[in-house]
Amino acid sequence: MNSNLTAILRETFGYEQFRGPQQAIVEHVVGGGDALVLMPTGGGKSLCYQIPAIARQQAGQGVAIVVSPLIALMHDQVGALHEAGVSAAFLNSTLSFDEANDVERRLQRGEITLLYAAPERLTTPRFLQQLDALHARGQLSMFAIDEAHCVSQWGHDFRPEYRALTVLHERFAGVPRIALTATADALTRADIVERLQLEEARHFVSSFDRPNIRYTIVEKKDATSQLLRFIQREHAGADFQDAGVVYCQSRKRVEEIATILSDNGIKALPYHAGLDAKVRQDHQDRFLRQEGIVMVATIAFGMGIDKPDVRFVAHVDMPKNIEGYYQETGRAGRDGLPAAAWMTYGLQDVVNQRRMIDESPAGEEFKQVMRGKLDALLTLAEATDCRRVRLLRYFGEQSVPCGNCDNCLTPPQVWDGTDAARKLLSTIYRVQQASGISFGTGHIMDILRGKATDKVKQFGHERVSTFGIGAEFSETQLRGVLRQLIAIGAVAVDSQAFNTLQLTDASRAVLKGETKVQLRETLSSPTDRKSRRSN
Ligand code: ADP
Ligand code: ZN
Repeated sequence: MNSNLTAILRETFGYEQFRGPQQAIVEHVVGGGDALVLMPTGGGKSLCYQIPAIARQQAGQGVAIVVSPLIALMHDQVGALHEAGVSAAFLNSTLSFDEANDVERRLQRGEITLLYAAPERLTTPRFLQQLDALHARGQLSMFAIDEAHCVSQWGHDFRPEYRALTVLHERFAGVPRIALTATADALTRADIVERLQLEEARHFVSSFDRPNIRYTIVEKKDATSQLLRFIQREHAGADFQDAGVVYCQSRKRVEEIATILSDNGIKALPYHAGLDAKVRQDHQDRFLRQEGIVMVATIAFGMGIDKPDVRFVAHVDMPKNIEGYYQETGRAGRDGLPAAAWMTYGLQDVVNQRRMIDESPAGEEFKQVMRGKLDALLTLAEATDCRRVRLLRYFGEQSVPCGNCDNCLTPPQVWDGTDAARKLLSTIYRVQQASGISFGTGHIMDILRGKATDKVKQFGHERVSTFGIGAEFSETQLRGVLRQLIAIGAVAVDSQAFNTLQLTDASRAVLKGETKVQLRETLSSPTDRKSRRSN
């Protein structure tokens, strides 16, 4: 059997050797076992089910059904399989009634080796009956469930249609199932096992490390010019030949940044769901075919796009969680050559993300999980030690400092922000006491730093006892402290009331000095340096 599998790898796919755990996975699935495969993007997941599908078909066991959430991805895969001479087809909403009928007829005649289907298609009564008929004749060889994290509401890409896939186990017991994903922390992983009833499955967990990607996370000052400098400094080449992706939070920002990059001689194109489908397709095609295109996009862009030579992925806004960050940055450097993951993050990102969670219609338990995930990402952003060690630890992997992230290359200075944190919390408290209402960041900063602005005078806040007690700190430093306090839940931002700052139960531990606040020294602003020295 082993030699047959290698023969398929070589003759059908043209590869010399299996990569990493591929061989073990393929053998396990060909042998009829269930599997859960966790492999980073670009690791080679497709072969893990394509080769077993071919081998089992050759052994007379019939068709493999591949569940895939993305139409574009299905088309690419089926196209590539055709080129390799494998009989593959897909069933999704792009087919006409007649075309779908034709696929179904070929399916029943045993002419298809791999059939790709969208989950909502697969679980229709009509299609399940088709599968029943195949199953009864022993012609249903296996199920592959791609992007399996879509089944988990804790994942970053929950798709309710995936929930219905439990039917596969219940209705077709004994047909082997392989679930694959590139993103799964412990929680998501447990959810996949439970939801897809993969209790018996063997787990194949690859290293999630992408050693060729250099991680850099910087504090946001002016994200656009920081981005521009980053590209000009590290990815300009001779005449901007490096392809990259810049992720933004909103469509508006995509447009803005694409324009600014273009104005600076970078071949930037926008991509977001608000653009005409034709324009989107055109931009995607150009990104794939031409050299040196920088795609400025919302997260609508990227899933299933296989471009090996993306030299950088930049985030000008912070993503929701580490899974999202990891998946998006994972699109860089799939060819194994040096690539960069670069992100800016700031107070406003934290506030926005918190607000999106608070205002979502989800239940409280869900919101708690989301807040925890956001905090984990913030902790990564604020970290003063190796980014990679932290990133991998999040996915359950131990490692040693990498020497290829900003913190390893230029260890940051740290300072103890506990005192500043206590001053900040006291100010929020005093001002609330004095006026009976809460205030937002700018106003609190002014009071702390002893600035008697009109608004400060209007409320008589120059008379509160904490007025000016934070004058030794720069605004940047105080914002850093505030960001951390929000991250650890010691300050709440009330999005229902003009983003005013409020104390929480967790504030007390900081006020009492039980919780320490460690911060990165901000080196870039000379006034910061001065105020630190005069301190
Ligand atoms: P994933 O789905 O895990 O992101 P893919 O299955 O798309 O990854 O594979 C990523 C790339 O690696 C593809 O270009 C694929 O052809 C290539 N690849 C996969 N397995 C091998 C192998 N054993 N040898 C060489 N290239 C491989
Ligand atoms: Zn490192």
